[in-house]
Amino acid sequence: MGETSISVVARFRPARPGASVDGDVRFGDDGLSVETAASSHTFDGVLPPHASQEETYAQVSPIVEAVLQGYNGTVLAYGQTGSGKTHSVTGTARDPGILQRAVRHIFEWIRSDAGAATHRLTCSYLEIYKENVRDLLEPSDASLSVRESGKRGVFVDGLSQAQVLRCLETGGSSRRVGATQMNAQSSRSHALLTLTLERKGADGSVRVSRLNVADLAGSEKVSRTGAAGEPSRGEGRGAAGRELAPLVRNHSELAGEKAHVPYRNSKLTRILQESLGGNSKTLLLVACSPEESDASETHSTLLFASRAK
Ligand code: ADP
Ligand code: MG
Repeated sequence: MGETSISVVARFRPARPGASVDGDVRFGDDGLSVETAASSHTFDGVLPPHASQEETYAQVSPIVEAVLQGYNGTVLAYGQTGSGKTHSVTGTARDPGILQRAVRHIFEWIRSDAGAATHRLTCSYLEIYKENVRDLLEPSDASLSVRESGKRGVFVDGLSQAQVLRCLETGGSSRRVGATQMNAQSSRSHALLTLTLERKGADGSVRVSRLNVADLAGSEKVSRTGAAGEPSRGEGRGAAGRELAPLVRNHSELAGEKAHVPYRNSKLTRILQESLGGNSKTLLLVACSPEESDASETHSTLLFASRAK
């Protein structure tokens, strides 16, 4: 106990119609391994292009179960722009993603636990773009400070299932509107949904746990998305990778020696910090493209994922 446990699952999206598929990508029959021309990897799960949203949620479900048992849980969707992060996290109305499924899962459990306790669920949905935090549930141009976001303003009290589902819609469409107004923002911003569950047992005990689900900024190098006029971010991983490295690497140190981890590097890591360390569970969901033209980014993504373990 007292350890942050990190699991890593890779999901490959289907190829776009007409796109040329990277023939060197091979999926192991064990559902745990993937091989490319450059390297081979074994993770806690590998979801091939035909995997459903339901199969994807099955990999996330243990994190939500941990949250229901009182631990903090974090799901980080990482990968290049266009690799399927938002599809996995948000999905579509017909084929909902992790967020909707997690909300349903939590409310099913609340109903089953209702005889033994009372529950309160609160929700915040933030977008972080260039170190500015925007509340997706109450759209405005004003940027919230991180401290505020943890204390007030973004929280809506004691939500019903319908209200939480409405928050997902409001936040999702607010992010889309922002994305069309501000060029390239969607690929360069993080979206972070946090559900806080408070359970008050019949014996008076109170337990608070948190589920974070982050749809991260594209992991590609900035130049690849053609963000003209941006200062160079240097070589190697994109912004998402550099921010996350301290969270996912050397995670056993993370649990015991928080002070050495440079969380203050970014707003994202500062917000997530509250949920990491101690008894918490993190799932790094790496989204990959199966297309030949993306092979080099896919390779970088898989390498990053391997280092996270
Ligand atoms: P990202 O958020 O990583 O930039 P998206 O989730 O927007 O990528 O996915 C890029 C495109 O691929 C979208 O049109 C999306 O609908 C499609 N897509 C991604 N994953 C899948 C999947 N598993 N099945 C079907 N379509 C997918
Ligand atoms: Mg996206």
